[in-house]
Amino acid sequence: MDTVSLSGKELAAAINTDTKARAIALTEGGAAPRLVLVVANDDPASAWYVNSLRKSAERLGIACDTVDLGPDASSAAIRAELTERGADPDTDAIMLQTPLPAGIALDEVSSAIAAAKDVDGVSPLSLGLLAAGLDGFVPATAAAVVELLEYHGIPLAGRHVAVVGRSNIVGKPLAQLLLAKDATVTICHSRTADLAASTGSADIVVAAAGRIGLISGEHVRKGAMVIDVGTNEAADGTIVGDVDADSVRGKAAGLSPVPGGVGPVTTALLMRQVVTAAENSRSN
Ligand code: NDP
Repeated sequence: MDTVSLSGKELAAAINTDTKARAIALTEGGAAPRLVLVVANDDPASAWYVNSLRKSAERLGIACDTVDLGPDASSAAIRAELTERGADPDTDAIMLQTPLPAGIALDEVSSAIAAAKDVDGVSPLSLGLLAAGLDGFVPATAAAVVELLEYHGIPLAGRHVAVVGRSNIVGKPLAQLLLAKDATVTICHSRTADLAASTGSADIVVAAAGRIGLISGEHVRKGAMVIDVGTNEAADGTIVGDVDADSVRGKAAGLSPVPGGVGPVTTALLMRQVVTAAENSRSN
């Protein structure tokens, strides 16, 4: 069987074209949409991600500030910064970067992000709104998986989707989004007794575990669609996913590449959410 590449590049480009037009309209209406990145680490991967977000924002006409609180910032200092930015009328959108300083859990500080500016949907309020099926910002990676499937014309209603990973930023919100699309969802994790049995009966497998090569041909039934969310650094420094592409290719009907699959769509959706937050605040 030929395995189609479920690329995210064309979808990301289309989203970005729309976002840029909306950002220009906001700028012409008074002020460019503004994203604030709050950093409290000295992690190279986080610095790389912040830089790439800044470049994406700039390309789309979105202003982007970075507030660096340093790797020893206290929970109180992080919360104070997030609260201050939440009250600042010039800040439309806030993203808190991870990792956080040792001993600080994300939910300890993310609750200080104002829901209207929480463009990556990480605060307990945003996650609760999603679980309740109410409007709010949704974690961009989870939303990117659904948009990528829909873009490639893969139906979700009534289909069985196995999600491998149950983090608050990817696996759990993705399961909620898929349920809202009437999929039947199985959530797998590190304590799942027989992973291959759970994923092997699914129409769609989403790998979001952060483990190189976790999903191989034996985990996927013939004709299934496979979405690889994993972004892992291999020993040679390249970025690879969670799926052993060689063993899945020829068995799956479709596989999203890493890089070039979920990643660009995630960034595009984040930027779209920044513009949406700005439009919402201007219309209030
Ligand atoms: P976390 O480490 O927070 O969560 C990983 C999840 O995978 C956990 O639920 C864990 O289970 C589960 N898991 C780990 N090992 C296994 C295993 N052997 N079998 C089954 N399940 C397992 O990671 P994130 O959710 O933050 O990220 C997941 C991946 O997605 C990473 O590679 C990350 O880099 C990537 N990512 C990509 C993005 C993109 O834009 N493309 C954005 C965000 C993340 P348990 O809960 O039991 O520990």
